[in-house]
Amino acid sequence: RAKEAGRGTYRFFEPEMDRRLVERRKLEADLRQALAADHLELFYQPLADCRSVSVQGFEALLRWRHPERGMVSPAEFIPLAEECGLINAMGAWVLRTACREAATWPAHISVAVNLSPVQFRQPDLAAEILAILAETGLVPQRLELEITEGVLIVEPERTLATLNELKAAGVRISLDDFGTGYSSLSYLQRFPFDKLKIDRSFIHAMESHAGSMAIVRAVIALGRSLHLAVTAEGVETEKQLVLLQAQACDQAQGYLLGKPVPAAEARHLIADNRPLLPRVQAAE
Ligand code: C2E
Ligand code: MG
Ligand code: MG
Ligand code: MG
Repeated sequence: RAKEAGRGTYRFFEPEMDRRLVERRKLEADLRQALAADHLELFYQPLADCRSVSVQGFEALLRWRHPERGMVSPAEFIPLAEECGLINAMGAWVLRTACREAATWPAHISVAVNLSPVQFRQPDLAAEILAILAETGLVPQRLELEITEGVLIVEPERTLATLNELKAAGVRISLDDFGTGYSSLSYLQRFPFDKLKIDRSFIHAMESHAGSMAIVRAVIALGRSLHLAVTAEGVETEKQLVLLQAQACDQAQGYLLGKPVPAAEARHLIADNRPLLPRVQAAE
C-alpha cells in the first residue's frame, strides 16, 4: 500500500530494475553452466576471395543454444561474459575448438577467431594462444585473430606486446569493424595488423550513400598502400560485391556468400571446392 501511495516517476522503475537484475543473474548462472556442460557451439562463416568468390577461410562465431530462450546472440552474452569474468575461459574454449576444427581442413583454409578486449588483460594471453596452437597442431599462419579498436585504446602497451609476440610466431592479426571505433589512423602503423575488416555499416550504405562508397574506396586504397589485406563485412547483394570487385577489394564476407553454419556444413562447403556464387556479372 505504501508503495502504491508513493508511486512516483523513479519508484515506478524499481521493481522493473529488480526483475532485470534477477534475470541477469539467472542468465549469468546459465552461461557458466553452458560453458561447463559444453552447450556452446561455434558456427563458421566463409571468408571468400572477392574476385573468384572461392573460400579462403572461415570466421568462427559463438552460438549459445539456451534451453528456454533458444538461440541467444553473442551481442547479448559476450558483454555478460566480460562482466562476470567468464570471458577468459570462454575465449580459451573458442580458440581451442576453432583451431582443432581448422586443423582438419585443407592447409590453404584459415580460421578467424574474435578476441574480447578483456582477454588482453591476461599477461600470458600470447603464451596461452601459442600453447593452443601447439596442442591442436594448427600452424600459426592459419590463425587470424580479430580484435576491435577498443582494445587499442584501453590497454595499448600490453596489447602491443601481446600482438607482437603472436605476430612473431606467425599468427595473423585483423582489425575488425574498422571505421566504427575511436582510434586514430596512427594505430595502423603502430600495431602489427595484416588485415582491415571494413564494418558492415559502410558496405550496407555503399549503394545509397555516395559518402559511404567514398569511405569504402578510401579504406581499400589505404589498405593497399599500407600492405594490409582488406575484407568487406556484411556483403548482402550482388551489386555490393560487384562494386567491391571493381575496387579490387581482397576479401568478402556476408550473407550473399554464406551465413554462419555449423562445423559439419563448413566441411561440406570445403569439400565442394567451388565458388560460393554462380558467376557474377562484372561491372561495366
Ligand atoms: P563480428 O566479429 O563483427 O562478426 C560479424 C557479425 O556479423 C556476426 O554476427 C555475423 O553473423 C554477422 N554477419 C555476417 N554477415 C552478415 C551480413 O551479410 N548481414 C548482417 N546483417 N550480418 C552479418 P554474430 O555472429 O551475431 O556476432 C556478433 C559479434 O559478437 C561479432 O561481431 C563479434 O564481435 C562477437 N563475437 C562472436 N563470436 C565471438 C567469440 O567467439 N568471441 C568474442 N570475443 N566475440 C565474439
Ligand atoms: Mg569478427
Ligand atoms: Mg566485424
Ligand atoms: Mg561487428
